[in-house]
Amino acid sequence: MKWEAVMGLEVHAELSTKTKIFCGCTTAYGGEPNTHVCPICAGMPGTLPKMNLAVLEYALRLGLALNCNISKYCKFDRKNYFYPDLPKAYQVSQLYAPICTDGFLEIEFDDTNGKQKKKIAIRQIHMEEDAGKLVHDPRSGDTYMDYNRGCVPLLEIVSQPDFRSAVEVTAYLEKLREVLLYLDICDCKMQEGSIRADINLSVRPAGSRELGVRTETKNMNSFKAIMRSIEYETARQIDILEDGGQIIQETRRWDDEKGKSYGMRSKENAQDYRYFPDPDLLPMQIDDERLLQVKTSLPELAHQKRERYNLELGISESLAAVLTVHKNISDLFEAIAKKSGHPAEAANLITGEIMRLMNNTNMLPEDLSSVKRQELTSKLSVLIDLLIGRKIIAVRIKKQSKQSL
Ligand SMILES: [Zn+2]
Repeated sequence: MKWEAVMGLEVHAELSTKTKIFCGCTTAYGGEPNTHVCPICAGMPGTLPKMNLAVLEYALRLGLALNCNISKYCKFDRKNYFYPDLPKAYQVSQLYAPICTDGFLEIEFDDTNGKQKKKIAIRQIHMEEDAGKLVHDPRSGDTYMDYNRGCVPLLEIVSQPDFRSAVEVTAYLEKLREVLLYLDICDCKMQEGSIRADINLSVRPAGSRELGVRTETKNMNSFKAIMRSIEYETARQIDILEDGGQIIQETRRWDDEKGKSYGMRSKENAQDYRYFPDPDLLPMQIDDERLLQVKTSLPELAHQKRERYNLELGISESLAAVLTVHKNISDLFEAIAKKSGHPAEAANLITGEIMRLMNNTNMLPEDLSSVKRQELTSKLSVLIDLLIGRKIIAVRIKKQSKQSL
């Protein structure tokens, strides 16, 4: 029998607001354990949360960029469960009135039939707080709690089960990452867990319309691991069904070193969390004026930049794609193009020598700080002047260390 995998994604994006969602503590990554903590985010009884309105603004930006309906009225609910990284024993989230619903994201990918486009439906986007982190000491076997990450704001983006292959999932995550970066609401550092995906997966006979029993593989934060886990889980479920067995609805954990996943717990349903409206946080009204304000101040997104580079600046589609691979690269390009007045030369220099040098020194686009971009803008504009004036005819940068770039 031919089988088909059906997948839906829940993506958690950590927001880059300066402070946490309900208190004034910093959201900076890392830091000495339990130094970015106050009585509110440590969940002390008697404290009162205060909503950080920047989180609402970021949620509205993403909702508009993903073509969602924006709720005029939204509120927070408590999701009750006990876990040591959650000192209050409940997470503040949104179940009954999420901020954004019914949007879509269009993805592009290649398959055996060539280039494809597909709209992935977004069921909802909601605001919530992150939990702390457990640090396991393998030598002593002890576990330590670090609450620095507790109460850092998250947007959870929930798709419909519209994916049929790992290629589609990767295309979606890449596109979503691009949108988050260009909206300037998440740094998207996957290695620091700024974006994490839970993958709901079931299989069914090809052509069937009914959904099979699904499993959820949680907290994936690398594209490669996501691809491998999807292949693994699809094969595992097909094996069970072909042997006449049944899939158990459960949460699974992926072990990337072993290339396997393990069942963690049988999957809870919403009612198991005993959600109820958070009595400490007032419902929020979103009026048309506010929405219009966010709409008119939305930054230019990557696909809009690609189109503009091509139509207005005469940059080829393939170079425009490389220049928009990360916001820091397109910011650098635009600064140099403006300062030098020669966009074509700026595009060639960045996609050629600069990116080659970054590759050779393992420098990531996120390492291009604004100070570094300013320095590069002045230096490279001078270089472009020399090239245009035929004072020099070619550039080959020899420096090979990350610091010297
Ligand atoms: Zn705090």
